[in-house]
Amino acid sequence: MRVYLVTPYGWCSGVKKSISLAEKILQTKGEVYTLGALVHNPKVIEDLERRGIKIWNNESIPEGKKLIVRAHGLPYKEVEKYKEYGNEIYDATCPLVKRVQKLAEFLRKNGYKVLIVGEKKHPEVISIMSYAEEKGVLIENINDAIMVEPFPKIGIVIQTTQSWEEVEEIIKLILTKGKEIRIFNTICPEVEKRQKKAKILSEMVELVLVLGGKNSANTRRLYNILVKNVPTYHIENLEEIDMEWFNNKQKIGIITGTSTPESFVEEVLRLLETHHPLELHLV
Ligand code: SF4
Repeated sequence: MRVYLVTPYGWCSGVKKSISLAEKILQTKGEVYTLGALVHNPKVIEDLERRGIKIWNNESIPEGKKLIVRAHGLPYKEVEKYKEYGNEIYDATCPLVKRVQKLAEFLRKNGYKVLIVGEKKHPEVISIMSYAEEKGVLIENINDAIMVEPFPKIGIVIQTTQSWEEVEEIIKLILTKGKEIRIFNTICPEVEKRQKKAKILSEMVELVLVLGGKNSANTRRLYNILVKNVPTYHIENLEEIDMEWFNNKQKIGIITGTSTPESFVEEVLRLLETHHPLELHLV
């Protein structure tokens, strides 16, 4: 069986940075908590917890702790509040998310209505919204865009894990809503690259495994791209894989979300190899 593995696979640069910061603080300070899941992958979170990097799950506000802001960022007022309670804050927000936060702040300060195109409940979008303050408007779909009141100056930023194809229509509609419109394409290049490869992969193989957290926005998007063209399974754990899927299949694709560890790809390959001789190709 030929396996076509999409590169890059495993963690993106932002996830790598967040995890290595958390590990460094654990080593030097002995105890560290993350504010929310550091990344959207349950396997990674379990592994971090085993090593002592825990999520602050307590209902109460932590005091005097070492706290890490997750890769998706946090609303800035929340961070300020934690500081007031004597906590040491370590910022593991991905630099690309930070950039979107700063753009939202810049637009707000310069008199723009700030439109944030993304999933309303996603932590990244909530964090960006905090920088736009009262000027921020969340746009999740075309209906939200239709509802936007015309405004002389409009600025648009996009959740890093969106795909341009899905936001294009929304943006075209918003172009009719203002006199001066600034659009910042803040989609992450690492995400875009994987989305492009997903399309290529969907034409090459008979079945695809998308590896990553079910709560990971970019992994879900890869699944959505692929499933339109080819039988596709979104896999979070090895136990979800049914070996019957591969009967009579010669060409299998594997692609990972940006918070999926390389070790999970290796586990999946080992599992497949126990049933079928594999020929691995990188895409
Ligand atoms: S996917 Fe992109 S924006 Fe998100 S953490 Fe990774 S590098 Fe940062």
